[in-house]
Amino acid sequence: MNMKNLKMIPCTACGEPMPELRLTKFGYKVCVNCSTVGSYRAVTTTGGSGDHTWNDIQIMTPEQAKAADANAAKKPKWDRLGE
Ligand SMILES: [Zn+2]
Repeated sequence: MNMKNLKMIPCTACGEPMPELRLTKFGYKVCVNCSTVGSYRAVTTTGGSGDHTWNDIQIMTPEQAKAADANAAKKPKWDRLGE
C-alpha cells in the first residue's frame, strides 16, 4: 500500500489526521492513539524446564487478552504492542 495516496481524515477525538480507511473499512472514528479497542497484546511465555527452556510470544486479540486476564492464576508478563 502506498501511504502517500492514503486519504486522511481528522480524528474525531483529537483532530490528528488518520487514514480514512480506518473509518470506511474498520468503522473507527478515532485514531489509534485515541482508540481503546483493537490493540493487540503480546504475552511472553516460557516453556520447558532446567537447561532446556525457550521463550514464546503469543499474540492475543483484545477479547482473548481480557479473558486471559480474568482467569489468570499466575500473572503473565504483559507487554503492550504499539497502539
Ligand atoms: Zn485521535
